[in-house]
Amino acid sequence: MADYQLLINGELCDAASGETLETYNPANNEKLADLPKAGKQDAVRAIEAGRKAFDEGPWPALSGPERAEKLRAIGALINDNQAELAELEALDSGGTIRKASLADVPGAVQAFEWFAKMAEEQPAKVDLPVAVFPESTNYALYEPLGVCTGIIPWNFPFLMAAWKIAPALAAGNVSIIKPASYTSITALKLAQLITEADLLPPGVLQVLSGPGGSVGEELASNPLVDKVAFTGSTEVGRRIMQLASGTVKPVTLELGGKSANIVLDDADLDQASAAVLWGTFFHGGQVCESGTRALVDKKIYDEFVGVLADKSGKILLGDPMDFMTDIGPLVHRSQAETAERYCALGRDEVGEPICGGAKPEGLPEGLDVNAYFQPTIFTDVPNSAKIAQEEIFGPVLCVIPFESDDEAVAIANDSIYGLAGGVQSSNLERAEGIAARMRTGTVWINDYHMISPDRPFGGYKQSGVGRELGTYGYDIYRQVKHVHVNAESSGRDNHLQYTALSSNI
Ligand code: NAP
Ligand code: MG
Repeated sequence: MADYQLLINGELCDAASGETLETYNPANNEKLADLPKAGKQDAVRAIEAGRKAFDEGPWPALSGPERAEKLRAIGALINDNQAELAELEALDSGGTIRKASLADVPGAVQAFEWFAKMAEEQPAKVDLPVAVFPESTNYALYEPLGVCTGIIPWNFPFLMAAWKIAPALAAGNVSIIKPASYTSITALKLAQLITEADLLPPGVLQVLSGPGGSVGEELASNPLVDKVAFTGSTEVGRRIMQLASGTVKPVTLELGGKSANIVLDDADLDQASAAVLWGTFFHGGQVCESGTRALVDKKIYDEFVGVLADKSGKILLGDPMDFMTDIGPLVHRSQAETAERYCALGRDEVGEPICGGAKPEGLPEGLDVNAYFQPTIFTDVPNSAKIAQEEIFGPVLCVIPFESDDEAVAIANDSIYGLAGGVQSSNLERAEGIAARMRTGTVWINDYHMISPDRPFGGYKQSGVGRELGTYGYDIYRQVKHVHVNAESSGRDNHLQYTALSSNI
């Protein structure tokens, strides 16, 4: 039996095949647990149970405030188990315990609370103003979509699960979640906690750990599924779109990025360098909206690069379970190999980095050095270089000089991606002018990485489709029905208005 279980139709269970997948702690390369390896058969069973729960079950018929109460109870349950969830998240993903305790777990609670508020406050029926057909009354009904699947990546496993589950359930849908194979524990743990607390009817939330190629493909293509929300690479996002197109399912895609953090000549260098370093190296650069291209005004370029080199030496790599550690291992040795490969490419393209470029030395005993990579900074990088264009998803920063604000905007926008970006400046008007011209879903001014459930998040261009979070992130889980009532129906004197279009009937 596996150490954790799938949640299908209200039951905690193993995979139908009995197969398991091993999950590791990347910090020491030791096995953490055996997880059930769901396959297509389990996915189909979950989809059918989800269909039944939506079509026949009580969940979609509950009022918004009733659903809100359940969501708040899930938030409270997470809160009650925060220490265990944070520890599991850090062990399974290599993210630091500091990140898990201060960002991931509280962030998940905030997501459940925010979408509970949406369920309570967003009206399910809205009267529509009558303009063209005055002899009628009109309203819009906001309805759930149905069976919503969520396929999530390994960089923020618990938070991403919350971002997919909370809005789907708040709007009256049922949700099926597939976590990434490297990091499935906390989504399975949440399923276990919710099931043991008997918080939801069977089939309303289901969680399946298993491979993207079988479980994920089924969740994205099965005709009984009404919507797919995916967070992950642009490459798999394209595949999800194709799979969903068979039955024209709406998709939300949160994909890759190569975000630009623009440092103007009037920036406070201390603050701006912190925004650039934190904006890139937080979680080892394994953040989709990381500011991995620092665009720096030539007037302050040399001085700024000096500050970056100096401060980057202070970043503490080490045991992710130590609260003082800034960066732990990458999620897997393969991710460190990717960083290494891009550094070799960077050396060919632009020369030696000013810091990093290798595995760290002197890590505490017991840590797997092969999963670690030093914060690395390449300078004088042309924006056309591959290391400036391709997402590395590791601790690699490209510093790119520019001469004018117009050039900074042009470089920032010269990317297939458009997820996020930053502007560091002491002149707010100038910074806001640049922010308005950046073709990205988020811009932080004198800040970075500030994402919260009440603000929309998502990408332009190949960084995605749609927006999660905020009120937008609630509406992507609802559809709108327009109801038109001819005035005669309410006893008013009126002839049928379409007689003007068809006088012979
Ligand atoms: P990934 O390889 O695209 O995988 C993401 C998820 O998709 C995993 O659960 C994976 O399952 C599954 N999957 C893989 N192939 C599939 C298929 N053919 N059909 C259906 N599902 C499939 O991405 P990742 O390496 O986990 O995460 C890193 C990427 O995510 C980066 O590109 C990053 O920028 C992006 N990301 C974006 C955001 C955002 O909000 N924009 C946030 C976080 C991460 P397995 O694990 O079983 O392979
Ligand atoms: Mg793991």
